[in-house]
Amino acid sequence: MSNLIQQEWDKIIDILINEYDITPAAYTAWIQKLSVYSVNNHKVLILLDDSLSQLLSYVKNKFEQPLKVTISEYFNEEYDVEITKLSNLSSADRASRKDSGPADSLVSAGRINDTLNPKYTFDTFVVGNTNNLAYATALAVASDPGEYGNPLFIYGGVGLGKTHLMQSIAHYALENNPDFRIIYTTTEAFSSELIAAIKNRTQENFKEKYRNIDMLLIDDIQFIAGKDSTMEEFFYTFNELYEHKKQIVISSDKPQKEMVGLEERLISRFKVGLTVDIQAPDYDTRVAILEKRAEHYDIEIEDSALHYIAEHIVSNIRELEGALNQIINFAKLKHTDRVDEDIAKEVLKDMIEPEKARPITPDLIIEMVVEQFNYKITAEDIKGKNRSREIAYPRQICMYLCEKYTGLSLAAIGAALGNKDHSTVLHGTKKIRTDLQDNEQLRNTIDIITRKLNLPAK
Ligand code: ADP
Ligand code: MG
Repeated sequence: MSNLIQQEWDKIIDILINEYDITPAAYTAWIQKLSVYSVNNHKVLILLDDSLSQLLSYVKNKFEQPLKVTISEYFNEEYDVEITKLSNLSSADRASRKDSGPADSLVSAGRINDTLNPKYTFDTFVVGNTNNLAYATALAVASDPGEYGNPLFIYGGVGLGKTHLMQSIAHYALENNPDFRIIYTTTEAFSSELIAAIKNRTQENFKEKYRNIDMLLIDDIQFIAGKDSTMEEFFYTFNELYEHKKQIVISSDKPQKEMVGLEERLISRFKVGLTVDIQAPDYDTRVAILEKRAEHYDIEIEDSALHYIAEHIVSNIRELEGALNQIINFAKLKHTDRVDEDIAKEVLKDMIEPEKARPITPDLIIEMVVEQFNYKITAEDIKGKNRSREIAYPRQICMYLCEKYTGLSLAAIGAALGNKDHSTVLHGTKKIRTDLQDNEQLRNTIDIITRKLNLPAK
């Protein structure tokens, strides 16, 4: 992970500069003097160049928090950040750096743990009619890597549990074989790592890293389409691992035969092993997933409320969880510890009743965005002046959605969002459009909000 943060450092800094309005002077003075020292257990140690050691507390104050936010959002995982100077490093810090290994090291169990979500295990995966074959096959592959079905190809629509299952395989295999070298990665991370390696002339390290492992799990392979150098490299990686009977697991949002923009030779490789699909969960599975989730909260959710959600949200488990979260947040806000069907109906009405289309106004958009961010921000925040990322980003999402759906001019949108000028709105909409290209989480967020907006049928 240390390598990953190092590799992505320039992009992380670009975002930081953008979001926190860091001037070129500030960049030259301080940001350029920071470098990643080590990453362990989601703690990023950043070194300030010794020439500035007198300014350490100033730089800490100014940048620790913004860096923490930016890195966490970039990787969609919580990170801690500490800025320090060389002479302050404890011997433990120095040792921990050794653990995280040099840039070209093989992958150890320690590294993989960093990229896996501890919640995505077989134990937390609810099995029903539409995913039991995928589950059973995944478990078989995790139990006997390289022997049962190679590669394992899992496909299914968005939010149906592909990533959850893949990471379950990694966790399980690691538990049984702690020395296993496993890489779980997304196709996009694989691709950007490759591009960085080409740029830095470290392709040999890249090859060594990916070809000397016991298991490779590569998520969302559909994004490899059209990326020629990535397809080529992946093809050789695949062959090398396959010949050595190392397990490969691939996920995709569609079956092999529907994949476009992929080389035929790759597709035929995917077909040699086992293919399983995950379909949208049936009613009973949806209820079971909700029940399992609901156990985590102190708030009691009546069966009638759970059934109401399960009846109305049918195609995506992520949304099912989202609906439950909204209800929980609502209950917390109202200080109630019990949720019945009426509350569920009230909270979810926008999500669930698409037939009642309303006119789309900036205020409606703000309301939906605030809701989507679980009320951590308010409509006043959106219309206010605070430019910290936690507020500025939802605000930019509002700008983007207003531009897309209200038909108002940029100036009118700016006015509706608390007197922002039209260039600010333009910048905001552009930023979201750019981010949408490679930020799946953002795509989902926008997707959910858009659905809640109940656009009139076209
Ligand atoms: P995908 O990768 O297919 O888009 P994810 O694996 O990210 O979907 O799943 C979306 C969310 O739904 C995750 O929070 C995941 O834990 C949850 N989820 C999916 N399937 C199940 C399941 N069968 N049991 C419990 N939770 C699930
Ligand atoms: Mg996924």
